[in-house]
Amino acid sequence: MSKTLAINAGSSSLKFQLLEMPAEEVIAKGQVERIGLDDGIFTLKFNGEKTEITKDFPDHRAAIEEMLTQFKEKQVINDLSEITGVGHRVVAGGEWFNKSVVVDDEVLDKIKRLSAYAPLHNPANAAGIEIFRELLPNAISVAVFDTAFHQTMPRENYLYSLPYEYYTKYGARKYGAHGTSHRYVSERTAEILDKPLEDLKLITLHLGAGASITAIKDGKSFDTSMGFTPLAGVTMATRSGDVDPSLVYYIQEREGLSNEEMLYVLNNKSGLLGISTIASDMRDLEDVMDTNDHAKLAVDMFVDSVMRYIGQYIVELGGVDAITFTAGIGENSDIVRRMVGERLNFMGIKVDPEANQVRGKERIISTDDSTAKVLVVPTNEELEIARDVERLKNEQ
Ligand code: AMP
Repeated sequence: MSKTLAINAGSSSLKFQLLEMPAEEVIAKGQVERIGLDDGIFTLKFNGEKTEITKDFPDHRAAIEEMLTQFKEKQVINDLSEITGVGHRVVAGGEWFNKSVVVDDEVLDKIKRLSAYAPLHNPANAAGIEIFRELLPNAISVAVFDTAFHQTMPRENYLYSLPYEYYTKYGARKYGAHGTSHRYVSERTAEILDKPLEDLKLITLHLGAGASITAIKDGKSFDTSMGFTPLAGVTMATRSGDVDPSLVYYIQEREGLSNEEMLYVLNNKSGLLGISTIASDMRDLEDVMDTNDHAKLAVDMFVDSVMRYIGQYIVELGGVDAITFTAGIGENSDIVRRMVGERLNFMGIKVDPEANQVRGKERIISTDDSTAKVLVVPTNEELEIARDVERLKNEQ
């Protein structure tokens, strides 16, 4: 038995989970927020106890050192040598990485070079990797890419109808995101249905603050809704999802916005927040949607955008065996699941109203006579990361 850390480093945050492997038991988890800002917050959950520390964390190194210090202080571990592997979520893997890899200097260099595709994320991911390699030199370091699962998409699905040279010159194509989540959820769906994953046509709906939808064929990602960046696809909490690109220039010109400012609007002021004008959180919108027209419009547009991808993917897959909901909205919102289900009734896909009353638990929510299964499967990216670390450790 050994302990594996799953790390998700953002630009100002660091989420961690320590697992006992191969038992797949979560020992401790927590996060550091507001790295580089005043009043950082460190949170650790261990043994049913929650520790919260407020202090400044000038950089990721300070955050990681605090985590390791607290691990020892709270006796989560006795010695750092117990941690034998660290798995890092990396947002952009480009075309270089189609699976998780053990990090060496060359991999680290490539992750840094891929920062152009994820300017907010890859530098933080790379910094996290570097610090852990230094502080835990004997632990295997593994990079798990958000984009890797989608590298199986056929080129007609990942290319944009732009001059082909932009693809060869700049890597202008669809990379997708949330790959680790879609992979985990599709594996669980096959297990729950007791069918080989390779035999299933699946649509996985990762509906959280960021949302993406994936069509899975032969156990592989066949198409996905996010694009060159995670801005594309369905309506999200504050991200626009798909828009006509010429509209972007039209608005930019009239509002006098720089490229960065326009991108900020598309990433941070659009989506559910932009339409509703009141909230980016689905819970807040559901609470008032019966009386607030804008909240209702935002929820309707969100569901509509989900339906467009489900419809497209059923056609692309030539049918569907199962549709799986995951992430914050997918796992918790019976309202959104009911609305999606109703729109599929005409094809004989039926969500059972009673089974649908579920939050954050695995369950088949379709009726027995439904033409496709509908499921809720809570995502677990940390476990998938830890499994990759374990596998690569055993392969060494
Ligand atoms: P995630 O990004 O996966 O953590 O999902 C976060 C989002 O899930 C929040 O912004 C909410 O919109 C949504 N969410 C969480 N709990 C609920 C709930 N009980 N009902 C509806 N939406 C929820």
